[in-house]
This record gives sequence, C-alpha cells and structure tokens, in this order.
Amino acid sequence: MDTMDRRQFIKSSVMGASVSLLSASPLTSIAGQAAPSHVAQGKILKRPLGRTGIELPVVSMGVMRADNPALVRAALDSGMRHLDTAHGYQKGNNETMLGEVLKDYPRDSFVISTKVPPDAKDAFLANLDLSLNRLHMDHVDILYVHGLTAGDDVVSPSTLEALKAARESGRARHVGVSTHRNEPEVIRAAVRSGVYEVVLTSVNFKQDHYSEVKKAIAEAAAAGVGIVAMKTMAGGFHDKERTKPVNCKAALKWVLQDPNVTTAIPGITTFDQLTENAGVNYDLVMTEDEKSSLIPGKSEGGLYCPGCPGCTDRCVKRLPVPDIMRAYMYTYGYRDARMAQDLLLGLRIAGDPCGECEACTVGCPRGFNVPARVRDVARLSSVPAEFLV
Ligand code: SF4
Ligand code: SF4
Repeated sequence: MDTMDRRQFIKSSVMGASVSLLSASPLTSIAGQAAPSHVAQGKILKRPLGRTGIELPVVSMGVMRADNPALVRAALDSGMRHLDTAHGYQKGNNETMLGEVLKDYPRDSFVISTKVPPDAKDAFLANLDLSLNRLHMDHVDILYVHGLTAGDDVVSPSTLEALKAARESGRARHVGVSTHRNEPEVIRAAVRSGVYEVVLTSVNFKQDHYSEVKKAIAEAAAAGVGIVAMKTMAGGFHDKERTKPVNCKAALKWVLQDPNVTTAIPGITTFDQLTENAGVNYDLVMTEDEKSSLIPGKSEGGLYCPGCPGCTDRCVKRLPVPDIMRAYMYTYGYRDARMAQDLLLGLRIAGDPCGECEACTVGCPRGFNVPARVRDVARLSSVPAEFLV
C-alpha cells in the first residue's frame, strides 16, 4: 500500500534534505519551468548512453506497471528524465497514459523509450506507428525490438531492416534490443551488428551468470553501445508469501556500481518507491548493511529465474519454462496478475501444461519446484480479465 500521495511526495521532497528530490539539473519541468534549484542538496549522478549523445540520470522510471499520471509527473519533478514503456504494456494503455502526461512537457525535457515485438518490417513499423499515435509523438528517443533471447534473432536481416527503417524515417532517434535472458549472447550480437545503439538487459545480484553479463556489458560499453538495466530488484521478494523482501534500494545501487551501466529502469508504481529510487540518483554509495542484505538473497531460490540456457530443451514438452517463471514472478513478486496473464496468453499457456508428465526433467539448479510453479501460475490464463486488478 502506498503511504504517500503526490502532495505529500512534493512536500517531503522539499523538506527532506537527505533525499533531495527536486533537481538541480538543467532539466525543464512542467510548462518549461526550471525545477527549483535552491532545494537541491547534491548533484544528480548522470552517465552517457553509449554513442547516442544522450546523458541520463543513473535512475530512470520503468513505467510498465504505473497507471497514475501524477506519479509520472512526480518522477520528472524528482529529476528523473528517462521514461520506459512498451507497445504491449497494459494493452497499450501505458503508452496512452504517458502520451496524455507528456503532451504538457517540452519534447526535449524527457527521453522516452518504447519496445515493439519483433515482426516483419511492415508489421513492425505499423505497430510503432500505433505506439507513436498513443504517445502523441512523431518519434521516440529509443526504440527497442522487444524481448530477444538468441543472437541469431538479434542480427536477423528482417529485424535489422525494420529497425533501420524506423531510424531512417525519423520515427526513432536510436534503436536497441531488450533481453530477459541469455543476455551475454544478445548483447554481443547487438555489438557485432553495428546497428544497435542501446541494449536494455536484465542485471541483478541474483544472476548466477552475472560475471558473464558484466563482461558482455563492458564489451558493449567499449563499442559505444549504451546499457540500460532492468530487473534490478530480482522480483522484489525472496518468497512467494512476500515475507522476505529484497532490499530494493541496495539491489539498485549494486547494479549501478558498474560504471558501464548508464541507467536502470526500476518499475515504479507508488510514491514511496519513487522516493526510495529517486534518492539513489544522488547517492550510489552502499552501506555495509546494504551490502550484507544482498548476500542471503543470492543463496535462496527466490522468485527470480535467471533463464538458464537449455532449460526449455530439458523439458519433455519444450515448455518456455523461463518465461512461465517470469509470469510467476509477476504474480507473486509484483502482485501484477494482469501482466502475468498477458504473458501467459501470449505464450499460449493454459490448463495444466505439465499434464501427465510424471517426472520433471528440467533439473532446476535453483531448486525451484518447476511443475508446481508452472501449474500454479497457469491457472491465471483461465481467469476472466475483469477479475484481475
Ligand atoms: S532451470 Fe530453473 S532457474 Fe534455470 S531457467 Fe529453468 S526454471 Fe529458471
Ligand atoms: S513436469 Fe512440466 S516442466 Fe517438468 S519436464 Fe514435465 S512438462 Fe516440462
């Protein structure tokens, strides 16, 4: 439950010297007015986004699950500059909500990204046009092809052609790819292509393969490809019952210790979360308590599935197990059953996907009871959407 509304947020921002949310940056705020600088207690930490020429505060807003226009305005007031959405979020309503908010702001006062699913060039561009229509914009700053997990898909001629057409037509200033798993391969393919300027990738303290992700990120940075981090909170909880929360502020800082990560886009749905995340824009130093709070999380199974290579191949039914686990995380970690249902329906998961399968062959190294989780979350597919909040 959010304990703070927009008015309280602004009041606490002005009064809270330690949080110092109102920006001293040269950003313009609503109606082009400069944000009041006299209340700032420090400088917002910013980093360049690869070779794009864009510089961003280290913390941005993942708008994905937000539906409150006041929250977006408060994020911009706090000094956040980059807003991340996608064609499919909230069935398009996320982009529509952002479009309504942002029409009151100068176009150069924010950086917006959206993501469009991979498709043939004409279909891809038609979806981009629909997104732009919802956003009331003639271009986005960053256009990602959404959710690729294989290097071959990243460099497929049809995908590259669609992205180049979007950029050349002026509908996207910069192009990128987003990835939830197999991140090192996707990042390296993006670099190799010479086309992508940004990669939006999962990064967090629960990734067993983090050292490989970090290496690929360094290679991308060296090649001038900007890195935006997502899934930094690793699901937000270590357990389904939500009795063991992740220290989200510590987890966010942990990812940003890597200077090759330009910015992170934690999903923000409440003013309390905004306050916590916006504070990180001024202070990345991790306390000893914050450091130690992340260690137990690494040793527990938790809600975050890192998408181990070969997981789907080991399933006798070739179920997209990592994606189903993501739906499980959305359900129990994010408490966002709608988003989980959208994902499951997109994957065509319904009924009892594990069926009569007697012994699970996935062999999850995290100790997840995979069939139990699959069966549990698959029930969502048959719930009428109007029952889901
Ligand atoms: S083996 Fe377990 S942790 Fe790895 S991708 Fe599959 S479900 Fe996720
Ligand atoms: S129990 Fe389910 S997840 Fe495990 S191998 Fe069988 S079908 Fe795949």
